[in-house]
Amino acid sequence: MERTDSLETGELFDCIVVGAGPGGLQACIHLGRYNFRVLLFHRPGGRTYHAKHIENYLGLRAVSGPDLLETGLAQAESFGVAVERVKVERVEVREGHFAVLAAGKTYRSRFVIAASGARESIAPFKNLPRFFGISYFTCMICDGYRTTGKKLLVIDRTINGARMSVGMKQMFTKDVTFLAQGFSLPPQYAALLDEEGIGRVEGRPEELLGEKNLEGVRLADGRVIPCEVILGWGGISLNEEYLEGLPLERDTEGFKIVTKGSGESSIPGLFVLGALRQGHSQAIISAGQGAEAAIEISTRIVEL
Ligand SMILES: Cc1cc2nc3c(=O)[nH]c(=O)nc-3n(C[C@H](O)[C@H](O)[C@H](O)COP(=O)(O)OP(=O)(O)OC[C@H]3O[C@@H](n4cnc5c(N)ncnc54)[C@H](O)[C@@H]3O)c2cc1C
Repeated sequence: MERTDSLETGELFDCIVVGAGPGGLQACIHLGRYNFRVLLFHRPGGRTYHAKHIENYLGLRAVSGPDLLETGLAQAESFGVAVERVKVERVEVREGHFAVLAAGKTYRSRFVIAASGARESIAPFKNLPRFFGISYFTCMICDGYRTTGKKLLVIDRTINGARMSVGMKQMFTKDVTFLAQGFSLPPQYAALLDEEGIGRVEGRPEELLGEKNLEGVRLADGRVIPCEVILGWGGISLNEEYLEGLPLERDTEGFKIVTKGSGESSIPGLFVLGALRQGHSQAIISAGQGAEAAIEISTRIVEL
């Protein structure tokens, strides 16, 4: 099926998908296998791309994020999905269709799937790249298992880290210390950690120590906190600049996009997947949401 001509002629696509992570790719695979006209916008990078070892994806004992994405992209293309390797700049709601603006062109579609994920705020600790994804983790669901039986330091700017420390001790390792990054732990949380046998430190981490293996963290005041693994969380921002100005319903914090069961947002025809919407963020969850959105869109297109 020839897709590329249609990019110049302003043909109406059935669906435009923004983001080639697991969510966007799974949506494309389903939509492509319905023989719909599908265009995928792919800006390299994203959270899955930075995952070194995915071990909780059904059917794959262990896969790196880049390998999973590369295979998924080839799979989507094999079903006739057109791919534009550029960033989407804006999505507009027009009369009876969506207009998607990217690299100076305007593309039109009946449906849009926003699957552009989020980006993490990574702490500016010296030597972090050496250990990121190997012994410095940011996601308990993804990598908590990898801390099993090791000397763990949990670093957080909020009291959530104290709660996380208790959970980590229950599931993964008895040797847990919580580093309250730049704040004083309220007395009830200090008491909770003491009761649970979890060490606690307050200070400002500056440098990760160790050559091949992580050995500890140096604080701004010179103290060294020994550890073999770290769980550190700095928060996320959504990759949603291209949706700015659209009247999308948000959660009570005005952050995540509210969707119905199939992933449709408050704007009819605009579906939202993964970290952009409420719920847990995992590769396999995004993929499932992509499949669900695609199936819902197919029923609308053929008016079943
Ligand atoms: C270090 C690390 C380890 C992880 N390990 C695991 C794990 O083991 N198991 C697991 O299930 N999950 C893991 N995750 C979480 C997982 O990566 C996310 O849940 C997953 O990214 C969700 O997939 P997604 O398709 O929603 O988004 P993403 O994978 O973030 O994909 C979104 C894509 O959209 C692109 N994009 C963004 N903006 C635009 C735009 N304007 N135009 C075009 N493209 C755009 C991005 O570049 C990216 O390619 C890990 C995450 C990290 C950071």
